[in-house]
Amino acid sequence: MISLQHIKSPKPEDLPSELEGLRMTKQRREVLAIILGERDHPTANDVYVRAQNRMPTISLATVYNCLEALVSHHIVRQVNFERESSRYCPNLEDHCHFQDEESGIIHDVIFKKGVKLEDFLELPQGTEINHLEISLKGRIGSE
Ligand SMILES: [Zn+2]
Repeated sequence: MISLQHIKSPKPEDLPSELEGLRMTKQRREVLAIILGERDHPTANDVYVRAQNRMPTISLATVYNCLEALVSHHIVRQVNFERESSRYCPNLEDHCHFQDEESGIIHDVIFKKGVKLEDFLELPQGTEINHLEISLKGRIGSE
């Protein structure tokens, strides 16, 4: 896959016309560019509001459809915190999400170098992990 991880604020028109077997329509490129542009884990509604700057006629339903297509083709990741709207993350590398309860900001948290899940979880023998979703909440210290 073309690595989108390190592209900062791409223009929708610079994104490929196909990604992971998904035809990238104008709307899908717009939505993806928004998610890659400001990596603050926006909700569908946030994406919708931002998309309206360039595409005033885009509907919330279209945004939802685009997000669903991007998620099912593993181009972006859907992040769920209990009872809250889903959020979207363009970081496809293994990572967890930490939500600062005070600001509501969601941070990407990576594993310490060399640490594997098997090192700190009592998994049944032979377990193969295919999907990682760890969401943490708390406060960030001031030090
Ligand atoms: Zn993330």
